[in-house]
Amino acid sequence: MKQIRIAVVGAGPAGCFVVTELLKHPSVSGIDVLDRRDQPHGLVRYGVAPDHAHTRRVSVLFDRALADDRVQFRGGIMVGVDRTVDELRRAYDAVVFCTGAEDPRRLDVPGGELPGVTPALYFSRWVNGDWTDAGAFPLHARSVAVIGNGNVALDAARLLVQPEAVLKDSDIHPAALARLAGSSVRDVYIIGRRGPAQSSFGEAELRQLGEIPGCRVHIDLHELDLSEADRQEIADRHDDNLQLVQDALHDLESRTWPDAERNIHLLFRRSPVAVTGEGRVEGLELCRNRLEGPAGAQRVVPTDEIRHLATEWVITAIGHRSMPIRGLPFDEESGSIPNLHGRVRGCERVYVSGWLRRGARGLIGHNRKDAMEVVRAVMEDVLSDV
Ligand SMILES: Cc1cc2nc3c(=O)[nH]c(=O)nc-3n(C[C@H](O)[C@H](O)[C@H](O)COP(=O)(O)OP(=O)(O)OC[C@H]3O[C@@H](n4cnc5c(N)ncnc54)[C@H](O)[C@@H]3O)c2cc1C
Repeated sequence: MKQIRIAVVGAGPAGCFVVTELLKHPSVSGIDVLDRRDQPHGLVRYGVAPDHAHTRRVSVLFDRALADDRVQFRGGIMVGVDRTVDELRRAYDAVVFCTGAEDPRRLDVPGGELPGVTPALYFSRWVNGDWTDAGAFPLHARSVAVIGNGNVALDAARLLVQPEAVLKDSDIHPAALARLAGSSVRDVYIIGRRGPAQSSFGEAELRQLGEIPGCRVHIDLHELDLSEADRQEIADRHDDNLQLVQDALHDLESRTWPDAERNIHLLFRRSPVAVTGEGRVEGLELCRNRLEGPAGAQRVVPTDEIRHLATEWVITAIGHRSMPIRGLPFDEESGSIPNLHGRVRGCERVYVSGWLRRGARGLIGHNRKDAMEVVRAVMEDVLSDV
């Protein structure tokens, strides 16, 4: 039987699922897993919120795969810098790249580069101990704006107002716990450019906002109104979560809240048009949007209604792009590696999986389906030579 040796670059969920799939093939005799960090698990270690223990538990599965006799984890190797793509191609029968999407999208408005504008990814890395330079975070802020309508935005908002007693029972890094425990945050605004029908919130994550001790959730009932096109979009997407999200929003809106020291405000159909301040963030200009067009093709149309929000910290949770790797093709527009069924175009025996392949979308489990398809391609190609 041919003995096959494979390099997997990136030990996040995508890389770990690829290893799990490769181990099902007895002809695979060795798998080297290279990662630029000293520790495996990618965003499960430094992205997933530290108070989401149930999600982080998937790392037990990943550790089991990495502990297999045929697998060797090699941390501290930045491929493209410490090892070239060509070196790996010469040393292995196939190379699978799973380096994720580590470049946060920037807020492209005047003032978007002011100190105090922080990508949510850096905040997540900080609470998980993967980002030691918190100097740029205005932790003195009383009011914080979180831009984005997905779970990453909800995670950041929740962690900012969660009491110390709750945080200390989580996996939060001690340095971040110490700083957040003394935080002055009173109001967090979660801002989405579209409406509730287009949000990417998870129902469970949304309901969790209502369980934070000493925190009140503010939603304007009118903001939850759905147009005919919105209702049609929800029906067409056949996504139970989307309907459950609407229910959760209504439940939060209609609750009677006791007085609270901290507040989360959900604002919909608003876009930042400028970050204001002298040398640091002092405010945010938000324009109100209208959604126009038929279901499935609604466009965001800015109106001239502007609201000024006093805030000292703007956290952006508006997506990421992959980083190019020297020696591999890269599609600047999509921010990913051009490929067909995971086979990198123009590079024989080189494959991609996970966020590097699909763009920064989807949950941990979605990377498993990718891994199955990519490993099928790898085995087909490598075994066809025998
Ligand atoms: C803040 C945040 C929170 C999230 N929370 C959840 C959640 O609660 N539940 C959920 O299901 N999904 C969550 N997700 C989504 C989930 O994390 C992704 O689906 C998943 O991590 C993508 O896996 P990946 O392996 O492609 O990328 P990553 O997890 O980013 O792994 C990429 C790996 O490649 C390594 N690497 C990068 N460049 C190089 C290089 N040049 N050489 C060597 N190694 C390199 C990195 O160190 C990293 O280990 C979250 C995402 C974010 C950003």
